[in-house]
Amino acid sequence: MKILRTRKELREFSREQKEAGKTIGLVPTMGALHEGHLALMRAACEKCDVVIASVFVNPVQFGPNEDYDKYPRRFAEDCRLLEGIPVDAVFHPTPEEMYPEGYCTYVQVDGSITNKLCGAQRPGHFRGVATVVTKLINLARADEAFFGQKDAQQVVVIRRFVEDLDINVHIRMVPIVREESGLARSSRNMYLSAEEKKAACVLSGSLREAKEAFEKGETDVDILKRLVSERIEAEPLASIDYVELFSFPALQPIRKVSETALLAIAVKIGKTRLIDNVILEGSQKAS
Ligand code: AMP
Repeated sequence: MKILRTRKELREFSREQKEAGKTIGLVPTMGALHEGHLALMRAACEKCDVVIASVFVNPVQFGPNEDYDKYPRRFAEDCRLLEGIPVDAVFHPTPEEMYPEGYCTYVQVDGSITNKLCGAQRPGHFRGVATVVTKLINLARADEAFFGQKDAQQVVVIRRFVEDLDINVHIRMVPIVREESGLARSSRNMYLSAEEKKAACVLSGSLREAKEAFEKGETDVDILKRLVSERIEAEPLASIDYVELFSFPALQPIRKVSETALLAIAVKIGKTRLIDNVILEGSQKAS
């Protein structure tokens, strides 16, 4: 596996692959890799000739009071996992390499898809995500880029700017990978104590209950949201950031689930903010 640390190295690697007629799959990550990330790598290997992973804790998508400094960084271990897939190259730049002195261009997706859910809670987050993903897609000359349903709003935002800016890449969404307990895999799960990890199962548990209610015929959005909130409120270590249900992928308010919808939650367990979601399949397909 090639380790690429500069934009020049990545550009040259991609150019060689393109000249050899290969299709390129890109999997952007912030590292501290787990089975969720590896599912994206495997999906990319299945669809593309060459797979490039990126490992970059992107400072631009963190707010001032968020966990940028303490975000886990374990590149050697990440490389070991990536080699096991195997992916062809990993791009691991420094912040200065990605945002050199004088850098001042950002991709801002306006409108109603970024002002809700994590966008409402984390101002500037999606601007940072859209900026880095644009740069990565361009540098890697990706034919396809792979993202997790775990960050479903992120997928919606990325598909939006890719379409709006005429970027020639196919965006794929990979289902959420969970631990046996149901807890969605996340690099931030490392922050949880054993007791908090147990409590964190309330996220997936409450979503599962709501999905079951939906499958038994409950389509009222307020009732489905209340089912989730009440279950989470009963967990003493949990506090709700949001419980929302929107149409998917448009992310518009609805009163009844008649077409495909996204039930998404953000919950603090102790000091750790976790997200999870479930897609309620209406008549339309989600991905
Ligand atoms: P991150 O390193 O947290 O920025 O995540 C990198 C990519 O992995 C994003 O597209 C995430 O949605 C995806 N991802 C993270 N956790 C999971 C999971 N449990 N299942 C599927 N995809 C995931």
